[in-house]
Amino acid sequence: MTRNESYASYADLTVKVGLNLQPGQRLLIIGPLANGGVSLEAAPLVRHVAASAYQAGAPLVEAIWGDEPMQLTRFASARRETLTQYSTWLPKALVEHVDAGHAMLSIYANDPDLLEHEPPEDVGALQQAVSFAVRPFRELISSNRTNWAVVAAPAAGWAAKMFPALPPDARMARLWDEISRLCRLDRPDPIAAWNVHLESLAARAAYLNAKQYTTLKYSGPGTDLTLGLPAGHVWVSGRTASRAGEPFTANLPTEEVFTIAHREVVEGTVRSTKPLSYGGTLIEGFGLRFERGRVVSLAAERGESVLRQLVDTDEGAARLGEVALVPHSSPVSQSGLLFYNTLFDENAASHVALGAAYKFTISGGDAMDDAQFEGAGGNRSAVHVDFMIGSGELDVDGVGRNGTVEPLMRRGEWAVASV
Ligand code: ZN
Ligand code: ZN
Repeated sequence: MTRNESYASYADLTVKVGLNLQPGQRLLIIGPLANGGVSLEAAPLVRHVAASAYQAGAPLVEAIWGDEPMQLTRFASARRETLTQYSTWLPKALVEHVDAGHAMLSIYANDPDLLEHEPPEDVGALQQAVSFAVRPFRELISSNRTNWAVVAAPAAGWAAKMFPALPPDARMARLWDEISRLCRLDRPDPIAAWNVHLESLAARAAYLNAKQYTTLKYSGPGTDLTLGLPAGHVWVSGRTASRAGEPFTANLPTEEVFTIAHREVVEGTVRSTKPLSYGGTLIEGFGLRFERGRVVSLAAERGESVLRQLVDTDEGAARLGEVALVPHSSPVSQSGLLFYNTLFDENAASHVALGAAYKFTISGGDAMDDAQFEGAGGNRSAVHVDFMIGSGELDVDGVGRNGTVEPLMRRGEWAVASV
């Protein structure tokens, strides 16, 4: 397959399985919001997505572009105290688009180390300002107000970070090879392959939903964590339904089943097993200690001040909103690669997220107001940041309502082989 053909195949998968774009729906393409929009480097894929979207009946496809060198120019030349200023029109435009029931695609094609040499306080402050500004948009998305998806395109800075040993002109090709393989574009019929995979994830989620464990217990190197699951929690996998009832797949690739963590019932210590790329910097080798749901202490070998700023963003940023299980044998994990990007890395390992919980991960959550959601155990925050805690050494047990303890994962693999 030529690059052009494989982009066309990825674009089709994104529009049909990712967004499940419906005739008459407009499509807006964005990128990481701290950068203002989708990287110019993703333009070839963006154009293929536009073609697929029009073929699927979209009346209009728009893109909001962001340029990373322009972001660096801001850090180099703008007055420091202005770095907390964020667009006033963009958050409103995003909300208007989603509120009207149109589709939203975010494409990641960015340099995870873009802001590595900038002062961490400034990076953290900018990231906080963005989080607050786009919070209403994030809340609409996280309640599946419309169909949305996140995918990736190769970019030079990202490829250089992942494959520093390769000659520069080989890096992009290698990164695209990896993305396309993990998105199953090498299968004879990628869309059929995704339908089979999504059904097996849905079966795993159904098994966990029938169990209704009250608590998960994690143990592994540096990890001894007890995590409560609220009554009525719902395990969700790759495919979910928008408010209009259309099934869509928010992440391509996806290998996880996930649900809500109880905001007040997390006790013990947890150790990250992969670096976390956050706001253009890397946070590595970190551990968190929880008491009554809240982070009470933390330490990181690298990026500790950014991690501290993340946890201090608001009250909910120090609590967990999501818990996800991913077998160590997942294709992303088996690639042995670190992508420095959550879309891929979260599919390599079991993880938890600091910050907001998704309302659709508790039954009746969509109809709850914020106070009811919090009362039911749901966490609210301007942030939602996944970090990896799974490895080939992690064991997970599920505790049932009557206190029975069942093995869920052993050495990173499902303890119940097939469901
Ligand atoms: Zn997740
Ligand atoms: Zn997450």
